[in-house]
Amino acid sequence: MDFDLTADQQRYREAVSAVCAKFPEPYWQRLDRERRYPEEFVRALTDGGWLSVLIPAEYGGAGLGLVDACLVLEEINASGGNAAACHAQMYTMGALLRHGTAAQKRRYLPDIAAGRLRLQSMAVTEPEAGSDTARITTFAARDGDGYRLNGQKVFTSRVQHSDLLLLLARTRRAEDVTRRTDGMSLFLVDVREAGDAIEVRPMETMVNHETNALFIRDLRLDAGSLIGREGEGFAHLLDGLNAERILIASESIGDARWFVDRAVKHAQDRVVFGRPIGANQGVQFPIARAHMHAQAASLVRWRAASLFDAGRPAGAEANTAKLLASEAAWEAAEMAMTVHGGSGMAVEMGIERKFREARLYLVAPVTNNLVTAYVAEHVLGLPRSY
Ligand SMILES: Cc1cc2nc3c(=O)[nH]c(=O)nc-3n(C[C@H](O)[C@H](O)[C@H](O)COP(=O)(O)OP(=O)(O)OC[C@H]3O[C@@H](n4cnc5c(N)ncnc54)[C@H](O)[C@@H]3O)c2cc1C
Repeated sequence: MDFDLTADQQRYREAVSAVCAKFPEPYWQRLDRERRYPEEFVRALTDGGWLSVLIPAEYGGAGLGLVDACLVLEEINASGGNAAACHAQMYTMGALLRHGTAAQKRRYLPDIAAGRLRLQSMAVTEPEAGSDTARITTFAARDGDGYRLNGQKVFTSRVQHSDLLLLLARTRRAEDVTRRTDGMSLFLVDVREAGDAIEVRPMETMVNHETNALFIRDLRLDAGSLIGREGEGFAHLLDGLNAERILIASESIGDARWFVDRAVKHAQDRVVFGRPIGANQGVQFPIARAHMHAQAASLVRWRAASLFDAGRPAGAEANTAKLLASEAAWEAAEMAMTVHGGSGMAVEMGIERKFREARLYLVAPVTNNLVTAYVAEHVLGLPRSY
């Protein structure tokens, strides 16, 4: 077991950190206030090649693994930024990489790697289905040599800053299949060509996370838009979801590092009753505990990412990492808020912004209850509870 980063990985971390240093706290605060997308930040990351690390070198990417991608996203959040603006490109692309045809890869991947094409958006969630993905009703009916789609999606993030959208739809109704997860298919939709067939209605949330409801009416897609095999979209999606969970866990670990760093600094600098508040066990113990929990989550995350890169099953570890990391980040957020006293709520400190952002990952991309249900059933062999 070797837990050390390689010299290259150390360099990636430093290079990403250097990009992030150009976008300090006031930048993120301004965006948050204006509810604006971090265009400049995403452009800088794209230009540095950091969003295409997972694209194979033959298509113009760096051809690195998930461990390296984790380093990138962790560093963004540890620097005080928010990788949610751009993380989807990494895990959404997995479906194209693993299940796309050679023609689809040639058509899209080089342009994505070069930053000419953005694949930042994925539409799975629907208002009625919620966590029960098999209940989605957006339907892609056969139409000549292509498909015609109708339905509704919610929480489709970044679609206004993406050229392509990965979308899950039913191609056979739930009533007509034997296994409830059969009969769904994955489509790569060119949003620029969709026109009025996709109505985008922004949803306001407590975080600056451009997310939208989509109303899809008679969206015509050619057969080349199908990713993988018709009817097997759910299985294709699941492959990528492990990557998504491991990457999101890395963002949470980055958040936890940021909260701990800020809390340590404040606990050393802030003097009350004639001594630094960090001299009190009531203040320093929660900081130390938050640090330890984040470290533990990080180790499970590295194990999950290593298994994924080795092509071995990583479902248990990916889910465990996602739960532990999001909880560690949330514990660290609460701790940092407490350590900062009233000033934690002052917008200029940045704590309350990160506090809101860290909360999201208890719920998305999958709720921690559903993660727990997965581990109970698939790892421990307990009866299925849902
Ligand atoms: C800011 C934001 C961005 C998002 N971006 C995207 C995106 O880009 N693309 C996308 O497709 N989706 C996106 N989502 C959606 C997200 O993945 C879902 O919100 C999440 O999966 C939970 O689904 P739900 O909100 O319908 O909750 P529900 O499924 O309605 O669940 C509500 C509560 O009930 C609990 N629950 C439900 N069933 C059970 C059970 N059997 N056992 C125990 N507890 C249960 C859940 O854990 C949860 O706490 C986003 C959400 C947010 C908030």
